[in-house]
Amino acid sequence: MKIYISADIEGVTGVTHWDETIKSKADHKEFAHQMTLEVKAACEGANNAGADEIWINDAHDSGRNIDHNLLPKNTRLIRGWSGHVFSMVQELDESFDAVLFIGYHSAGGTNTNPLAHSMHTGIDYIKLNGEYVTEFLIHAYIANYLKVPVVFVSGDFGLCDSIKKINSNIITIPVKEGIGDSTINIHPELALDLIKSGVEDSLKKNLYLCNIYLPEEFVLEIKYNEHHTAFRKSFYPNAKQIEPKIVRFETKDYMEVLRAIEFLL
Ligand SMILES: [Zn+2]
Repeated sequence: MKIYISADIEGVTGVTHWDETIKSKADHKEFAHQMTLEVKAACEGANNAGADEIWINDAHDSGRNIDHNLLPKNTRLIRGWSGHVFSMVQELDESFDAVLFIGYHSAGGTNTNPLAHSMHTGIDYIKLNGEYVTEFLIHAYIANYLKVPVVFVSGDFGLCDSIKKINSNIITIPVKEGIGDSTINIHPELALDLIKSGVEDSLKKNLYLCNIYLPEEFVLEIKYNEHHTAFRKSFYPNAKQIEPKIVRFETKDYMEVLRAIEFLL
């Protein structure tokens, strides 16, 4: 069994302030360590379920947060950013059996994580087919496009709640809840226990129960913080500035959605 793990930090236990997520800040080290431990717990759960090979994408900011020395030897770690439109699931392909998301967070436009955002902190929100879209859903649709099931997610409560509405067979472990500019967190070691057992359970089930529906048409809307950014981005092929700060792009091809996200942000 070949497993893919995409890991972010804003949905890791305890993480509350941007200073804790930025490598150049002193606070980053202890939270990057917890991110590593949550990924390690996911690897151990996957290995208990019979994983042969685990690929991990360090998919936060610099892509240089995770300490590979603390992970099992059957892992490969993707660090940095290639520029591929698969972004946080770079190198995912049809050869994988399942995808897991660790440390994921609520969407830009929502109030369920003090660090809620989607793909870029310099914009207000991204909507897909009328809903605020999470980084989770953008990348889960890529997995679906490749016919690889998404079976497990850990992160904040708001994200986990949104996933239950998409497919309740996907096992979700909420490790924190955002209230205004604060978070309420479970104990870091309890988070590791729950992630390890949740991943093991998710991989022992019928993985295809976790399939999600990929829409046939996509309406992408991006709200920028500045109207002049929206004006400039509206020159992207088939994009329209529908309000002073909002650009809309419509397509039937999900790869075109990814291309637009890459170039419109
Ligand atoms: Zn992040």
